[in-house]
Amino acid sequence: MQTVTRFAPSPNGPLHLGHAFSAIVAHDLAKERGGRMLVRIEDIDGARSRAALVREFRADLAWLGLEWNEVPAQSSRVAGYAAAALRLREMGLLFPCRCTRAEIAAAATAQGPDGPVYPGTCRGASVDPAGPVAWRLDVAEALRRAGPLTWHDERRGEQQARPDLAGDVVLVRKDADTPASYHLAVTLDDAADGVTLVTRGLDLFAASHVHRLLQALLDLPVPSWHHHPLLLDADGSKLAKRRGSGANGFGLADRRRAGEDGRALAEALREGRLPAGITLSEALDIAP
Ligand SMILES: [Zn+2]
Repeated sequence: MQTVTRFAPSPNGPLHLGHAFSAIVAHDLAKERGGRMLVRIEDIDGARSRAALVREFRADLAWLGLEWNEVPAQSSRVAGYAAAALRLREMGLLFPCRCTRAEIAAAATAQGPDGPVYPGTCRGASVDPAGPVAWRLDVAEALRRAGPLTWHDERRGEQQARPDLAGDVVLVRKDADTPASYHLAVTLDDAADGVTLVTRGLDLFAASHVHRLLQALLDLPVPSWHHHPLLLDADGSKLAKRRGSGANGFGLADRRRAGEDGRALAEALREGRLPAGITLSEALDIAP
């Protein structure tokens, strides 16, 4: 079986060195094994997605010397997300929820990988599904039906799936502009695109527990995973678009326009020669 990896950026801000590292990992693992890297634009994040940024992303990746095949963007796949959500609803595995972030934070008794774990407020309650409503996965019931699940990370070995640690995750968002949550969209996309090796940062390690469960529920093929270390800035925080990492000296487009040699930068990242102020972290508890 040919190795197929993917790099899947969201056009909600410029790419930064962390994206470069992630794209290089996906690219090199595929190439070393005679496979290929796909690029998928994750553009269902409503108003924040911008077409001009997608053109910049392609220029950034070419500048780094990477080769890829582009597959359809998420915005062209929403009917498939809706169909999968309906299937899970008909299986009795989703429930409607109108809780706000503040309500969840106030009622939560556990912290999960993405913050306060949803305390199950609306599970078993008769919430009217008319109007804006999120649909959450009843993880306990889903796990009961799927049975024990394992998944394999190339760097961390065999994992017992623990989707319960994240609680009843949202699969369909309240916000009509963002029809599917990251968990549902990415799991369906990777299956549809024939991805055999999911590469991404360790900040998404816990998400793989949830994705493994969704694969079982939706009869999808099960890939392997490769969660790579994360680039941290001088504060020990993950480089992140929302923290301005795309435009504060770590941004790829800025460096490209300033005349930096992108292939040399890619070689340096491969060899672990990191720009000043940047370190690599193997920690599992860095927030996504
Ligand atoms: Zn709720």
